[in-house]
Amino acid sequence: MIRLNSNYDKLESNYLFVEIARRVNKHREGNSKSKLISLGIGDVTKPLASTVIKAFHQGVDEQANEDTFKGYGPYQGYSFLQAAIVKTDYHEHGCDCIDAPDIFVSDGAKCDTGNFQELFASDIKVALPDPVYPVYTDTNVMAGRTGFAQNGRYQGLIYLEGNENNGFVPSPRELENNPADLVYLCFPNNPTGATASREQLGDWIQWALSQGAIILYDSAYEAFITDPDIPRSIYEIPGAEKCAVEFRSFSKTAGFTGVRCAYTVVPSAIEIGGTKLQDMWNRRHSTKFNGVSYPVQMAAAATYSTEGKKEIRENINYYLANAQIITDAMSSLGYQYWGGLNSPYVWVKTNEDSWLTFDRILEGADVVISPGSGFGKMGRGYIRISAFNSMENVREALERIVDLLSK
Ligand code: PLP
Repeated sequence: MIRLNSNYDKLESNYLFVEIARRVNKHREGNSKSKLISLGIGDVTKPLASTVIKAFHQGVDEQANEDTFKGYGPYQGYSFLQAAIVKTDYHEHGCDCIDAPDIFVSDGAKCDTGNFQELFASDIKVALPDPVYPVYTDTNVMAGRTGFAQNGRYQGLIYLEGNENNGFVPSPRELENNPADLVYLCFPNNPTGATASREQLGDWIQWALSQGAIILYDSAYEAFITDPDIPRSIYEIPGAEKCAVEFRSFSKTAGFTGVRCAYTVVPSAIEIGGTKLQDMWNRRHSTKFNGVSYPVQMAAAATYSTEGKKEIRENINYYLANAQIITDAMSSLGYQYWGGLNSPYVWVKTNEDSWLTFDRILEGADVVISPGSGFGKMGRGYIRISAFNSMENVREALERIVDLLSK
């Protein structure tokens, strides 16, 4: 008789945002008339930029004409998009080590960060930050790299603790007595908003090169970095092209959460046991994925045009101004917080059970935030407030929260 993948039995409860939705729905049953404001799930609210929409329409119109119609596209993405990515996101930032064949266009950084672990042996040692975006942990659990969780920690995984002392940026020194083969890093971090300096990333690259380890670097929020001293790409660090894979997304950068387009960079210089990691990801990508639609790639390419860049920057600045409203409110309450500067997330210390704060704010202010504990054990006692909403809603939500919490 058929049997199921029993690794799924090891997964702890619901995916975080499913549990948030469950609690919100329950709350709405008795409060359907009040205005609920969500600063919880990190989803953008601003519409696509007009330059992007124009290119999107053009892509659709081309599909209506026999001369310009396109069926399946190149597996790694259209060359016009790969070229724009390489020029704007890498060469213009001094990352000359990256070229078009290193770019794999996909429908999301979630899928890519979740799927990439498939390329590695099942018994490798995996280290991941705590707190962090839950997808890295859950996909390694599904792949059988862990035992059951005990006290919020899966047996077999190595947790890199983010805390106040290290500013939520773990260091490779934590692996001195517990070596890992694969490390996930995410900066600007979801959920803490922490960013890593050049020196901190340099330590990680030195560590990976000396250990023969691989770093999976998720920079889905790089567009929010405004401080020129903070690296936007791991490839700004020499040697990264030999040991690091980078994940990027148009979701938060350009409002593509509902449109779906991202890319993963697998440099040709990474070799493991004589095999190029790039060849292996190409094999996987071309076997299990049939490409992002042509109109969507046209829309993504438009984000690199002069006008597109300007419009996108305006939207990012808008969300960063929202983040400032959130940090001002937290300061007024006397709460300690991190992030919000080069990140759309503000990480707030509340010193009480995160779900308790979540329920209190939901019931008392009709505002949805995210409980820190949903991102890992180290998130207990914290909440994450997202800047993704209209400025009017962010203002109103924070007024309600300040009213509630200052009572
Ligand atoms: N990586 C991080 C750290 C995220 O927070 C998210 C979404 O919230 C993603 C990846 C998902 O990106 P995408 O929409 O491209 O799947």
